[in-house]
Amino acid sequence: MRNALLFLLVLLLNLFLLFLNTNTFATKKVVCTLNPYFLIVKEISAGKLDVGLLIKPGANPHTFSPTVSDAKMLSNADLIVANGLGLDNAYLKNYKNVLYVAEKIPKKFLKTDKVHQDDEHGNVNPHVWLYPQFLANYIIPAIRDELSRIDPSNATLYRRNAEKLIGELNNLDRRFSKLLSSFRGSVVILEHPSYFYLFELSGIQLLSLEEGHGKQPSPEKIKSIIKTVKEKNLLGIFVGPQFNKSAIEIISRELGRNYHILDPLGYNVSTIGELFQNAYKTLEQAVKEEK
Ligand SMILES: [Zn+2]
Repeated sequence: MRNALLFLLVLLLNLFLLFLNTNTFATKKVVCTLNPYFLIVKEISAGKLDVGLLIKPGANPHTFSPTVSDAKMLSNADLIVANGLGLDNAYLKNYKNVLYVAEKIPKKFLKTDKVHQDDEHGNVNPHVWLYPQFLANYIIPAIRDELSRIDPSNATLYRRNAEKLIGELNNLDRRFSKLLSSFRGSVVILEHPSYFYLFELSGIQLLSLEEGHGKQPSPEKIKSIIKTVKEKNLLGIFVGPQFNKSAIEIISRELGRNYHILDPLGYNVSTIGELFQNAYKTLEQAVKEEK
């Protein structure tokens, strides 16, 4: 009788511990579609959350579709941090708990471009993560709030880390503004309009080579870009590490200007701050050559 009672007690204790483990103390899982959001969530959560990345920095987010194991990862997530604006909405439509960060940015700041005109959410340029002001003012606060909602016990830590990151991005934003201020009215050439908001909202016209996702420009398009550039001041020529460089090489030769690698997804960086520091150095280098 005593043994049976002891057995029952141990069984109940085990069940109780199992309950605590799966409900209270289990590390919450966050999956981010894009590497920049992965870097941000990692930095804010500082090891308190299990953070996964869906699209590796070498892959093209515009043409990505999840594999079976990706779908499993998404199903197990307590929170999915996604971009929105047509970039990742289609394959996430059956998931709950998705934070579309771009929806937090007031529509008056969003702009359209020709390359993204086939996207399902209108023709708005979706590359909102490459503008430090959007990150500091809207995206990071939204991520901070969602992390605090799924894991309230660490909310103070998330607030503190988010504040630090916002401060760093505001500093970077000021440096970019200073660097780009003398280029108002200039043009810049990019393979794909990724750093669109940084240039366009600084009064610099972005000339994109691609005529749709992954579509290389026609000879006519190349000619028209060269003509436009010759009539204006050119800040520089840039291409992402994952893009085809053949058209950029032709333009670079024709205009007698070097081209530079400008990374939109954080290939070899461990923080979002590092991604922008690298971008700043690249722009600075191009500007120096121009002068
Ligand atoms: Zn794009």
